Amino acid sequence: MKGSCERQVFERLRLAYGTSGWWPAESGFEVMVGAVLTQNTAWANVERAIAELRRADLLAPEAIAAVGLGQLASLIRSSGYFNVKAARLKALVAWIHDSGGLEALGRMPTEVLRARLLEVKGVGPETADDILLYAFHRPVFVIDAYTRRLFSRLGAIRGNEHYEILRRRFEEAFPDDVARLNEYHALIVRHAKDVCRSRPLCPGCALKDLCAVGALQPG
Ligand code: SF4
Repeated sequence: MKGSCERQVFERLRLAYGTSGWWPAESGFEVMVGAVLTQNTAWANVERAIAELRRADLLAPEAIAAVGLGQLASLIRSSGYFNVKAARLKALVAWIHDSGGLEALGRMPTEVLRARLLEVKGVGPETADDILLYAFHRPVFVIDAYTRRLFSRLGAIRGNEHYEILRRRFEEAFPDDVARLNEYHALIVRHAKDVCRSRPLCPGCALKDLCAVGALQPG
């Protein structure tokens, strides 16, 4: 996959959808909570869980640290796997505390911060990169299942490449460009949900003339 492919797809999607203004959250910490809660569930379920946390005044690291594990699990029930995710949120806020707080984390170089995040229980590369890009505004890219599906259909990747190989390719296409990396992931998610779904709606797709699968479709 060449960098020009990523740039061309980005421009097409931006023309088709405009600006997304991601991540939908009121604070960096809320982004972090959302990144954990969105694992293996739809965003609508995460929104309900975050609304419960907001109602309980728990959208701060100290508040999550102080609340009981059972109560936390109950509040985030809508996000699924709620006992596991409650433990993961507890691990995340313990890590924030042990690292000297969010401001101290914000001063760390990106690769150091990424390595530290990946040491938190329950934080894998996708969650870490969500947090780095949308909470800490670092120039990293998030590779998710939507990205793999879209770019394999386009014929640009196999789809089973190692996470880090794909991440580097997108980051090299937009070096140090936080704004575009931020917008690109949001655009891919939107396109994958609205058009390039599990059953793709190829007629009318903004990428059809670039796409290996789209080329096989009539219209
Ligand atoms: S043409 Fe079809 S398969 Fe290709 S990106 Fe568009 S919706 Fe997906």
